[in-house]
Amino acid sequence: MATQLGLEGMPTRLFSCTPSRLTTWLDCPRRYRMTYLDRPTPPKGPPWAHNTVGAVVHLALARWWSEPRERRTPAVARALVDRAWTTDGFSDDAQAERWRGLAGDMVERYAATLDPADEPVGVERTVATRSASLAVSGRVDRVDLRGDELVVVDYKTGRHVLTTDDARGSLALALYALASARTLRRPCTAVELHHLPTGRVARFDHTEESLARHLSRAEAIGAEAVAAAEALAEGGDPADLFPPRPSRGCAWCDFARGCPAGLAAAGQPKKPWDGLAQEEVA
Ligand code: SF4
Repeated sequence: MATQLGLEGMPTRLFSCTPSRLTTWLDCPRRYRMTYLDRPTPPKGPPWAHNTVGAVVHLALARWWSEPRERRTPAVARALVDRAWTTDGFSDDAQAERWRGLAGDMVERYAATLDPADEPVGVERTVATRSASLAVSGRVDRVDLRGDELVVVDYKTGRHVLTTDDARGSLALALYALASARTLRRPCTAVELHHLPTGRVARFDHTEESLARHLSRAEAIGAEAVAAAEALAEGGDPADLFPPRPSRGCAWCDFARGCPAGLAAAGQPKKPWDGLAQEEVA
């Protein structure tokens, strides 16, 4: 944990976390324990093909901004997908090859909408901030400087088209806005979800009040997770402190094979490439 001086000058322990850690606690305390506390980490299932697609697309776009301006073309974006491609999680070479093409299409189309002369102030940039009880850090896909304001940009590659409500409700995006403002020392209230398969952008402009609401929610989530971890360290029962929270999402949980409640909720175990069917966009 990080520390900072509290009101009386006494060091205060801060909970060091990422937005993803906080949302994992919200989704399922048991998954939180297996991801962040159990060591060695319990065995995970094999890699998911849809995660491979997402990771390659993010990497290709990050590298695209590192290219000299004259090379920031849609064709180069596609070539960067080819260079970063891996076959992790696919059923066979033919399926992997087809998805390499689809991912290349997605990135090439999206790159055509970008201005190569732009220079984002952050690409895969780590940003951080502190509150009275949290030290939050995380990596943002992109931070743009538009006029005097910073805009947090998050790339999405799944099929589900995102809305303004998704941007407004995202705890992670709100924390990234606060952390970008602090790290880059400029106002940052705008957050955008860029849906790469369709090119649609969902934007929300936070106010100080809405950011403060997200931060206080993050602090409440962090306090719960810290209390559970402390009780565990004092000999508490992990099953009580970190209960499973079964849902349809269990089908995609890396730890489902070691979680009877999750297996019961998930039904038939998913194959590593099953997520592609729900990712595909015509
Ligand atoms: S399978 Fe479901 S209940 Fe079990 S740890 Fe994963 S998310 Fe939680």
